[in-house]
Amino acid sequence: MPGRPHSTVTPESAAPTDQLSLRRANLSRVIGHLREHGPRSRATIAAETGLHKATVSSLVDELLARRLVREAGLEHSGTAGRPGRVLTLDGATVGALGVEINVDYLGVHGTDLANRPLIQRRIPIDAAGAGPERAVARLAEAVRRALADLARAGAPAAGVTVAVPGLIDVERGTVLLAPNLGWRDLPLAERLAAALPARIPVRVDNDANLAALAEYTYGVVAGTADLVYLTGEVGVGGGLIVGGRLLRGADGYSGEVGHLPVDPAGRRCGCGRTGCWETKVGLAELLRLASPTGPPGGQVRDPDQRAREIDRRLAAGDPAALAAVAEVGRWLGLGGAILVNLVNPRVIVLGGYFAILADRLLPAAQAELDRLAVAGPAARCRFVASNLGFTAAARGAAGVVVDRVLADPTTVGTPPVDAPRVPPARTG
Ligand SMILES: [Zn+2]
Repeated sequence: MPGRPHSTVTPESAAPTDQLSLRRANLSRVIGHLREHGPRSRATIAAETGLHKATVSSLVDELLARRLVREAGLEHSGTAGRPGRVLTLDGATVGALGVEINVDYLGVHGTDLANRPLIQRRIPIDAAGAGPERAVARLAEAVRRALADLARAGAPAAGVTVAVPGLIDVERGTVLLAPNLGWRDLPLAERLAAALPARIPVRVDNDANLAALAEYTYGVVAGTADLVYLTGEVGVGGGLIVGGRLLRGADGYSGEVGHLPVDPAGRRCGCGRTGCWETKVGLAELLRLASPTGPPGGQVRDPDQRAREIDRRLAAGDPAALAAVAEVGRWLGLGGAILVNLVNPRVIVLGGYFAILADRLLPAAQAELDRLAVAGPAARCRFVASNLGFTAAARGAAGVVVDRVLADPTTVGTPPVDAPRVPPARTG
């Protein structure tokens, strides 16, 4: 199990200053230990964490009462003494909701606390055409429906995190700029919270950052400490995991790789600048190159369907599609070389449409990366296709909710009547 990269966005996870925050931290430590190391007895938890046995018993009682852990059989350790009852992460009664809003779709991913998927859906929308007001209304409608579905499944959500392709002030939940949605200075967390029936914590984060966390936790290269995730949509974003932690930068705006200026003589970008990387490798450019006479797929706006349409044309040997993929693949490798020179990742994980066309894009991309990275093949960085598809950002978003609950288990369920009273910590 990889480390907890989300800790970079939890400013309140400071050192405990009193008894109650110490207990909260210890509850988190015990449940985190079970999550990371799997089922074990109270005695084993005490031995491994260094906590006193009586303390562990009291903490476990509270986690049992809050239905975050359950007992599951006996532990046969081979040592003397009677076997202890094994505890395991439960959390089937706590839901986590992640939603991604993108140019052409809403992605919804609901899980319980043990990451068992309960809801997965994609809803086609025209977020840019709708304007911020109507797009947020559509988002709120999808969130309300998903919250109701999670409640019906017996796992009311402890929070919702929204993934947005743009620059996000994570502390305030504000979208500073989302060029492809046409959003600027939108207080999304506040607007969405106001449109939801229950008082539920709402967070907002960058889609590529959340997708990178999902890849790091659940993806094909899970646990790889140095990885870059690339969203392949109309826009292109990057999430950078460096040394096992999400790289956010001084203001939280790192990873805007789609706007690396790579071609001064290039086309105008949605951000207003010229020759950004996404004007070379974004889905819109691929479609333009593959269909110089007009967009393929008629009214189909969904990027997934568009990419599959291109894939069918490639399989049929369509010369325009083949040339387009070769050209985009080369530019993908060029940008990849910049990332390799900058942060030396072990893998660059391709999401979105890149993943669907990976077999077609990778040969040109990998060759160009090896040619242009200053360390050459010595940098040992390879492109791989994500297997999380278009769900990566929404999965990462749900994962943030899970992590927040595990960081403060007192936010869910009911404590045992005799437990020390721990008021919930303030939420983001
Ligand atoms: Zn740009």
